[in-house]
Formats: sequence, C-alpha cells, structure tokens
Amino acid sequence: MSETVKEKGLNFIEEIIEGDIKSGKHNGRLLTRFPPEPNGYLHIGHAKSICLNFGLAEKYNGGTNLRFDDTNPVTEDTEYVDAIKHDLKWLGFNWVNEMYASDYFDQLFKYAKKLISKGLAYVDDSSAAEMAELKGTPTQEGKPSPYRDRTVEENLSLFEGMANGDFEEGSRALRAKIDMSSNNMLMRDPIIYRIKYANHHRTGNKWCIYPMYDFAHGQSDSLEGITHSICTLEFVAHRELYDWFIEKLEIFPSKQYEFARLNLTYTVMSKRKLLQLVNENIVEGWDDPRMPTISGMRRRGYTPKSIVDFCDRIGIQKRDNLIDVSLLEFFVREELNKTSTRVMAVFNPLKVVITNFEEGHLEPCTMDNNPEDPESGSRIINFGKEIYIERDDFMENPPNKYFRLSPGKMVRLKGAYIIQCEEVIKDEAGEIIELRCTYVPTSKSGKDESGLKVKGVLHWVTISESLEAEVRIYDRLFKVEDPSSQDGDFKEFINEDSLTIVKAFVEPSLANATAEDKFQFIRNGYFVPDLNSSREKLVFNKTVGLKEGFKVSK
Ligand code: ATP
Ligand code: MG
Repeated sequence: MSETVKEKGLNFIEEIIEGDIKSGKHNGRLLTRFPPEPNGYLHIGHAKSICLNFGLAEKYNGGTNLRFDDTNPVTEDTEYVDAIKHDLKWLGFNWVNEMYASDYFDQLFKYAKKLISKGLAYVDDSSAAEMAELKGTPTQEGKPSPYRDRTVEENLSLFEGMANGDFEEGSRALRAKIDMSSNNMLMRDPIIYRIKYANHHRTGNKWCIYPMYDFAHGQSDSLEGITHSICTLEFVAHRELYDWFIEKLEIFPSKQYEFARLNLTYTVMSKRKLLQLVNENIVEGWDDPRMPTISGMRRRGYTPKSIVDFCDRIGIQKRDNLIDVSLLEFFVREELNKTSTRVMAVFNPLKVVITNFEEGHLEPCTMDNNPEDPESGSRIINFGKEIYIERDDFMENPPNKYFRLSPGKMVRLKGAYIIQCEEVIKDEAGEIIELRCTYVPTSKSGKDESGLKVKGVLHWVTISESLEAEVRIYDRLFKVEDPSSQDGDFKEFINEDSLTIVKAFVEPSLANATAEDKFQFIRNGYFVPDLNSSREKLVFNKTVGLKEGFKVSK
C-alpha cells in the first residue's frame, strides 16, 4: 500500500475504484448494485453491504441499482420485495433503478443457447447422484459425463424441450462445458439451468427452467453495466466462473470483488435461520424487536443514523470476524442521547402522600424535553398530593452516602419540589406500602428559594394523572456469543428469558406517543412506543439501557 493511500484511509475497494477512475476505465463511471434475494427480510449484515454499495456510489458520484435476485421461485415472495424496499428507504438510501433478475430470463435463455452454439454447454441426463459421483473431490479430478459430447443440434433441441416442459423435474440439466479437472470444483462443468415446475412470484408459470445463481448474477451485472459487483467472501471461488461466462458470452466486463460478512455477537444472521425463528414462533415475526433485522431494530427504537454510523465505523474487512453487538448499542445510545425526549416512568411504584399539599390541587411543573438539545423546548407536568416513586429509591435503613429517600431525609423530585420523609406505613406483614412526606413550598424547581441543598433527585408520577403502560424489556436472543459456530442445532442456544414484560406508570404526556417518537425514561433507559401501542393500551419497547461498559477506541 502506498503512503498516499494510507493517508487518505481508503479501504481496499476504494483503492481499486480510485485506480479504475484514474486509468479511465468505463470513462470513470461507477455503478454498484445491491442484490437481495427476496426470501427474507433485510438484517444488519445487509445494512453493511447497503452502506458499502450506496456509500461508494455517493462518494464517487455514481449510482446503485437495487436488483432483486429472484431466480429461485420456491423461496421468494412479493411480501419480501416490499419489505426490502421499505427498509432501504427507511435507512435513507435511494437506488437508481429497481431491477429483477427474473426480467432477464429471456435474455439468459438466449445466452444459454449461445453457449450451446459455441460448444460450451450441454444437456446432461445424469441424475444428481451420478453427477456428484463424476465430479470428483478437491484432491481427485472429475470424470466427463457420458452426455458431454452431444452435438450442438441435439443440445439445442433438448434445451428447448426442457424449456417447453417436455421433461420431468430433475431428469436433465444444462451444464457449462469447462474443465472436469479444474482445481476449482465450481469450474467442473457447473449446472447453469435446472428444471423446476414452480410458480414464480413475477413470471408465474411462464418458465419451468430456472438459471442457477452463477448463470444469473454476473450476466445481470453485465446487462446493467455494473462496474463493481461487490459481494461477500463465500463467492471468492465463484469469481473464476463469473469471469468465464462474461468472457465466453462477450458481454460487458463487470468485475466481482469480495469483502467479509458482518457477524454480530448473540445472534444469527442467516435468513434461513431467521425464518426458522419466525416459523417456529420463537419470535413474534421478522420485526420482533429481538431480531437482527432492520425492521426488528426499527421496532426496537434503533434509528437509521445509528445503524449507518455503526456500519461506517466497522468498515470493511477481507477476513470474517465477529463484531460485539454492544458496539452497535453504543451508536444507538449516542444518537438517542442527543435526540430523545426525557420523560418520567415509574416501574415498581411506592405510593407517597404529601401531607401538607392541598387536596385536589395540581401544580404545573415545567420539564425540559431534552437538556442536550436547547431547541427541544419543555412541557408541563402536574404535581399532586399523591405520587409514585420507585420502590428502589427508598431505604428504611440506608448505608452512608445514600442520597435517595430514607426516614427523616430530603430529596428533590425532578422538576418539582424538595420533600422530606416523615413516616413509613407498613402492612400487617411488615411490607412498606406508603410513605408520608412533607414538601417544601419554597423549593419549586426553577425558583427555589429554600436555601436547602439536597443531593438526590428522583423521578415520579402523580398517581391521578399517570397512565398505565406495558413495557417489554429485551435481553440477548441467544445465550452464547456465536450460536452459529457451536456444535448442534443453533436453537439449543436460545435465551428463554429474552423477553420480560412489566407494568409501568408513565406521565400523561405519553398518551398519544407513536412509534416514531423516541424517549428516555429518565434514570432508566431508552424506550419507544411499540408499533401496536395505542392510547387504550400503551406498550413500550426498551431500546437500550442508559449505559454499558463499551468504549469505542479511536
Ligand atoms: P443469507 O445467508 O442471510 O440468506 P444472503 O447473502 O443469501 O444472506 P442476499 O439476499 O443474497 O442474502 O444478500 C444480498 C446482499 O447482501 C449480498 O450482496 C450479500 O453478499 C450481502 N450480505 C448478506 N449478508 C451479509 C452479511 N452478513 N454481511 C455483509 N453483507 C451481507
Ligand atoms: Mg443469497
């Protein structure tokens, strides 16, 4: 790596692109693509690929195509297409063209016939087992299929027959004729078309043959004039085949580059596994807030910016690695600290009666919406005679330096008054059921003339005004850092206690909150109204706690 490159901090793909631009390749044009298979929802791993592809286009004045890689009719669905588009827009990315690999089926069929005509493809009648047998092993050369030397005419007519539905599924396949002794197993006459009687989400019953990934992806790139086709490391071995098809078909020379997949601790990232969690009702759906999906993270209260910042921060690597999920949470917390509205919610209530406060009176108190953001304004919360505080904020026999409430001691109620605990009421079993306190009328926040100095500040809600809410608190979905790398079924490592539902009493300003709103329940964490939260039944999801030990090293 040259010094200048190091100074600019380019990643290896940027280096390649800058080299291409400098040498005038494609007249300096850059077109990337994001090619999801519509067989599941997007997850945080996809977000990494999205940020990379769209980010490069932005940086180098190019564009990105959204291409649905929908060549497998069995697993794909329009529900997924819609969800993918929605998530991309929510993340803040705009594509140049919306494409479907299935739109190229006619062209791909022609390409296949072109290969046959050049003597570079043949119809093989062998069964899957026979083909596997002849394929050899990485240390042992393959052997030619008995059908390998069919004439061009016979191949063309059999291939047309395959497309016409003359043959049974699995009875024949079209294979590229490359090299049965190649060190690269993928070059040993790979299958490029298979018979499949399945309804496709876009082309319906028009086709009963479908191209394999390797015979669709590179050609689609080429048809769209993609300059840099960026994929993950498992495709390194496919590159040779990618280039072979493009060379033999004499089409636009797209180039493939590979980077490492993102893996995150305490979750799984394969759509197949995520689908199992959904189908087996281990989670409530693709957008369950515990899922590593974009829709799950949105429902959990994560913001697009925090996800994009996280992806930028981890950058791209050439070797697979496992990223600590608390790094993602760090970015979530960082943004929510700047943007969320501070509100009061009491989870484990202890009733406090202010004995010297007028019965029935409600005293308006002004609360800053977000001290981190001077433009966020303030709101009014009424203080009344009977309030709830957190049970944990009171101790009958406190240790030294306990600054919360205890008999005879004073605390400030956030945004309201200083109170002093006069009496502890217990039930027959000795459990504390109520505190009797007095308030200091001259101590109102903002115009405190009491001269008193108190250290503890507690949050509270006025009982008559408070609203009951259901709060869903989430823990890691898996008990181990890397469930996919363990022996056995990944589902054995599911954390059975990943969801805890509790009740809370929240301030009345939350009555009409929606999933777009982000809150900090002060002294507790960040919370967001659930998608299905309503005025009649308030439901909040915990996004993330206030603090965790993660430090981002610079
Ligand atoms: P899965 O194994 O989860 O089904 P996939 O790679 O088959 O993933 P696609 O829909 O084909 O999923 O992926 C679309 C794009 O997103 C591809 O370019 C793929 O390389 C990229 N991608 C998928 N998962 C990750 C990941 N964990 N990290 C980075 N990029 C990813
Ligand atoms: Mg895929």
